[in-house]
Amino acid sequence: MSSTSVSSLYIRGQWRESAGDESIPVLNPTTEEELADVPDATDEEIDEALAAAQEAQYDWARRPAKERGDLLRAVADVMEEHVDELAESVVKEQGKPLTVAQGEITAAADLARYNAEWDRRIEGDIVPGDSRRESIHLLRRPHGVVAGIIPWNYPIAVFIRKFAPALVTGNTLVAKPSEETPLTTLQLVELIDENVDFPEGVFNLVTGGGEVGARLVSADEIDMISMTGNVETGKEIMRTAADDLTRVSLELGGKAPAIVWQDADIDAAVEDVLTARITNAGQVCTCAERVYVHSDVREEFEEKYVDAAGNIEIGDPMDNPDMGPQISARELEKTERAVTQAREEGGRILTGGKHPSEETFNQGYWYEPTVVTDVSQDMDIIQNEVFGPVTPIMEINSFEEAIEYANDSHYGLSAYFFTNDYRMAMRAAEDLAFGETYINRTLGESWQGHHIGWNQSGMGGEDGIGTLQ
Ligand code: NAD
Repeated sequence: MSSTSVSSLYIRGQWRESAGDESIPVLNPTTEEELADVPDATDEEIDEALAAAQEAQYDWARRPAKERGDLLRAVADVMEEHVDELAESVVKEQGKPLTVAQGEITAAADLARYNAEWDRRIEGDIVPGDSRRESIHLLRRPHGVVAGIIPWNYPIAVFIRKFAPALVTGNTLVAKPSEETPLTTLQLVELIDENVDFPEGVFNLVTGGGEVGARLVSADEIDMISMTGNVETGKEIMRTAADDLTRVSLELGGKAPAIVWQDADIDAAVEDVLTARITNAGQVCTCAERVYVHSDVREEFEEKYVDAAGNIEIGDPMDNPDMGPQISARELEKTERAVTQAREEGGRILTGGKHPSEETFNQGYWYEPTVVTDVSQDMDIIQNEVFGPVTPIMEINSFEEAIEYANDSHYGLSAYFFTNDYRMAMRAAEDLAFGETYINRTLGESWQGHHIGWNQSGMGGEDGIGTLQ
């Protein structure tokens, strides 16, 4: 991929070059090389995409659901046939290690298949009416045109998380990838266009930054907004949606607590929590962002964790190290600021806390896996999402204290609890105020679950029965 401008509009089944004179460079976070220049779609182009989606929707919703499911299964086939090239493109623009990127593509194909399975299960209900010979038929109907707004950390998985549920249920889509990672999405849409026979206009793609997103979600033609991104953007979108009372589904940031109880298998907890912290360089909404360890095992956990974090291999993501770079200078600075502030507030760095010093890391956005101790509940590093490979560790002395600290957050996406006592696990699942609580494991939600944050981590529904919301 050389640095060129690209055909970035997919409207009514046709590729087009944008007439927009603003464009955004897409950088390789490993090398800082410019991969391409991707234009901001103009207002007229957004309107055309909306019109295409609106015109296609009536017929699309009236096709047999099985036909829609079959097309999604064909998309999954195409993705599985092109895992390597799509994954390489994700590595180039996003910086996760190659096997993790391959995992993203195969998981996204699996998610397309999972959503396709709803085709014959879009069930309603029949209840007796109050009049003689009357029955009430409860039908599930599509919303209409959905705006899909996508972040950069899992560009393909989140694209499919918008595309597949919208389409299987009879909606049409106008999607916008993140301005930082539009290239693989463009590539995937090209593969779908070449290999799968969707009717024109059922899905459309426009590129650009936040302003294009804002223009898209505010359009009258939009009946539902499905957005994944950070909390502040989610709030802004919700404010816009309020004008037309447009339905929203928001998947926002997280600050997952990992609680390690006194009877936990410490080696397994260390491995799982660390994986959940360094995967995608700490840039996963469900990453373990803060760790609470029971005082009986704190020393052992901390020692083993610091040791393991110090052994994480950082390097060119194409070579499959444990961890690649952060996505951008902006995200790197955010991580650096969080650690500097924790230090100033009394936090002690046990390992990391800096940019790696070797010459190979002169280019790119690198940060060492970092462990901070002597932190307290009110500190920023415990309260706000870092989205980088930084683990603050705190000690807890009772179950109540663990729950109190974990729930003392404006986020509520996911939580982790490590114990060998089933009763403790069930108490934790009941008391933790999070959309998902995982016991003795971390990352990787199952599609049949319900991925939705509580509190300011989101609203609406995704995966599982949320597919039909
Ligand atoms: P972001 O909010 O900056 O951007 C997300 C998308 O919103 C981009 O496409 C952007 O162009 C668009 N956008 C920006 N302003 C907009 C506006 N006013 N109106 C409409 N669209 C607008 O988020 P990001 O930095 O790309 O992603 C990282 C964040 O996403 C983290 O907070 C992470 O936790 C969260 N995330 C959550 C989940 C989840 O499932 N809950 C999954 C992945 C990422």
